[in-house]
Amino acid sequence: MTGTLVFYSEFDDFDQWKRLLLSEIPTLDIQQASAVTAPEKVRYALVWKPPEHFFQRWPNLELVINLGAGVDALVGRCDLSNIPVTRLSDPNMARMMAGYVLFAVLRYARDIPFFEQMQKQARWQYRHPRAAEEIRVGIMGLGELGGTTAQEVARQGFSVVGWSRTAKQIDGVECHHGMASLNEFLSRSDILVIMLPSTPETRGLLNDQRLAALPHVANLINVSRGDIVDEPALIASLSSGQIGGATLDVFAQEPLPESHPLWSMENVLITPHLASVALPGSAAKQIAANIQRVNDKQPPLHCVDLNRGY
Ligand code: NDP
Repeated sequence: MTGTLVFYSEFDDFDQWKRLLLSEIPTLDIQQASAVTAPEKVRYALVWKPPEHFFQRWPNLELVINLGAGVDALVGRCDLSNIPVTRLSDPNMARMMAGYVLFAVLRYARDIPFFEQMQKQARWQYRHPRAAEEIRVGIMGLGELGGTTAQEVARQGFSVVGWSRTAKQIDGVECHHGMASLNEFLSRSDILVIMLPSTPETRGLLNDQRLAALPHVANLINVSRGDIVDEPALIASLSSGQIGGATLDVFAQEPLPESHPLWSMENVLITPHLASVALPGSAAKQIAANIQRVNDKQPPLHCVDLNRGY
């Protein structure tokens, strides 16, 4: 194979990706963006959140591989047009996400935040457990990660309702779609899980009115992007008790500033954007296969639609 793969990520380990990709395609030239001396030889880019104008440097680029599932950092850029953009599509990444969401759902379903509070006061306070099927879990977004998660949560016996843009059929999940059904879907979500991509349609979707459509003391879990939820409205709902508690892995501003009010809210659990991550050991094969396809003049798999935004 001829050509160079340029790598850019401030979060991922270049040496590990290079080693794994070379074990799949030994003849591939792989370089960090800062080390490339012949930009005209670059045919592939493996990137996570590259800076502005990054793609202008490679005049013969044929494939962009996003080092994750969410492609919002690649949408609306002036340096990227007519080059196929692919995302990671890795069952292990979906399993990792499903594990995080399942943990957060079970934590609420089994009243763990309540027992944590009681423990701080050394109080033996019995609260009778609820049956899983009595608890309605609403999953917004039924894509690769959302669909897998919905099935995993349903497998635990919860009553799972899903919501997406287009119609879906998923075993064990009552599926709804489109804006017309959104408020009804929200009103039936005792635990709401946000798994939508950040697009012009979804940004700010969970505003004060939609948060008010949730059942009183509902719990909210956001593992997709912070800007889908109106943060001031969320903080107001958490303060008033309309929302009983939130598990937040993503925020409008990351890292979440030290002075942010969410840090000190007793009914909020915060993790630093790691519900699911790119797993080199399992994703390298898929990336290598796509590079091979492009080298063989075949269309790559797992392309995203930058006009649609995901
Ligand atoms: P997909 O692109 O596979 O699926 C997106 C889903 O959202 C689809 O079901 C889609 O509907 C639905 N959707 C999109 N727009 C709308 C809309 N306007 N109204 C209703 N539904 C809509 O995404 P994934 O499941 O792979 O991932 C979801 C998000 O998770 C990513 O975009 C990323 O932001 C985030 N993420 C977060 C991570 C973390 O660590 N916190 C890690 C990885 C990803 P339809 O099927 O009808 O098109």
